Amino acid sequence: MKITQAKINELLSEPGCEHNQKIGEKKKACSQQAQPGAAQGGCAFDGAMIALVPITDAAHLVHGPIACAGNSWGSRGSLSSGPTLYKMGFTTDLSENDVIFGAEKKLYKAILDIHSRYNPAAIFVYSTCVTALIGEDMDAVCQAAAKKINIPIIPVNAAGFVGSKNLGNRIGGEALLEYVVGTAEPEYTTPYDINIIGEYNIAGEMWNILPLLKKLGVRVLSKITGDARYQEICYAHRAKLNVMICSKALINMARKMEERYGVSYIEESFYGVEDMNRCLRNIAAKLGDPKLQERAEQLIAEETARLNVELAPYRARLKGRRVVIYTGGVKSWSIISAAQDLGMDVVATSTKKSTEEDKARIKQLLGTDGITLEKGNPQEILRVIRDTNAEMLIAGGRNQYTALKARIPFLDINQERHHTYAGYSGMVEMARELDEALHSPVWEQIRKPAPWDMENEILSDSIDFDVFDLSEEVLV
Ligand code: SF4
Repeated sequence: MKITQAKINELLSEPGCEHNQKIGEKKKACSQQAQPGAAQGGCAFDGAMIALVPITDAAHLVHGPIACAGNSWGSRGSLSSGPTLYKMGFTTDLSENDVIFGAEKKLYKAILDIHSRYNPAAIFVYSTCVTALIGEDMDAVCQAAAKKINIPIIPVNAAGFVGSKNLGNRIGGEALLEYVVGTAEPEYTTPYDINIIGEYNIAGEMWNILPLLKKLGVRVLSKITGDARYQEICYAHRAKLNVMICSKALINMARKMEERYGVSYIEESFYGVEDMNRCLRNIAAKLGDPKLQERAEQLIAEETARLNVELAPYRARLKGRRVVIYTGGVKSWSIISAAQDLGMDVVATSTKKSTEEDKARIKQLLGTDGITLEKGNPQEILRVIRDTNAEMLIAGGRNQYTALKARIPFLDINQERHHTYAGYSGMVEMARELDEALHSPVWEQIRKPAPWDMENEILSDSIDFDVFDLSEEVLV
């Protein structure tokens, strides 16, 4: 699949994405140019890898300099219940000579080598800035290799310079649509077959959800981006419903599957009791069987009754604790909902990467007093923590040092986390983590002045301790 400017424009103006719903005179967010000097997150290559690497029985070969592979390798905690081949880092490791004379033969040999040593279900081959710039014809090499070894070899033309990580996610989705979905048939189908798209099985979150769906009587035909097997994506077109979780990343895939195969889609979240309940209800309603809807209500009643008992001690300890949330996209409201379910007081949240619909939900959840951070940086987050007297920061791993500077506990909510927060059992895990972080005795120690400061204070006979010191020294 060639990535032309027309294809990029099509993906950037994806009509299924809320960002592209023009509101008043507002500019289309997906096609906004990167601002010089502003951090943009990962490149398109990184985004495509994020979307496709969770296909666990496939090999993922990076055609480029070794640093591109190193840049994205192993950075996400997407787990597998079986094959571990996806964790292996493969690269053609281009040298200066390859850049000058071309590396198509090297790529061809690498594909054959991977096949003979690891026998993967398929091989995804990723272009990078260097291979795109020197004009490698990856599609032709993949085609020739596929003919030779008779397994699917899928070119993913998402060189870093074509755009952002989000665009790369969508290019990954396009590759699946063009080369994988619709290429096989399942052994049998049922009226209760669904696909899950956009759940990356970070720390094993998918495994909190699958038993619930099984209890409900719904079959997950294909888990497209988490703990996936190549074969199940081939017959994803036979599902009756696509359930989108991180709705913006692969929205193009869901919309086009609706267009091509008539598989409708819904956008849901697995975080928090309310959202999990709504998700089960919506799946049952969309599949259109009244008995399934009855079962959903029964399951929700059982699960919430059990959950209320398990959460009771945590709710008592977390009630009213003030928290700032700094994350992106759908999580910016779904985590508010989860924290509020635990009785916590969310005083501020970020709206970065959020759509107008996400922002409306945030407003509804936070009320008029809630603060929204459009663009956050450590100084801004520290200021909000100080102004709101927040006791905890829930954010991505990069912000843990901001929390430490404010001397408050921190909960990692992004892709590097090691705990599962999705589903009902995830709520208990989240409550436990929040409770342990908030009530750790270390905070009392940390907030005490250092011994040498105490000596000075005794000398000067005045205590002037400010836990939210925003001096330049602290913000370095
Ligand atoms: S921007 Fe280009 S060179 Fe850098 S990691 Fe992405 S693909 Fe590799």
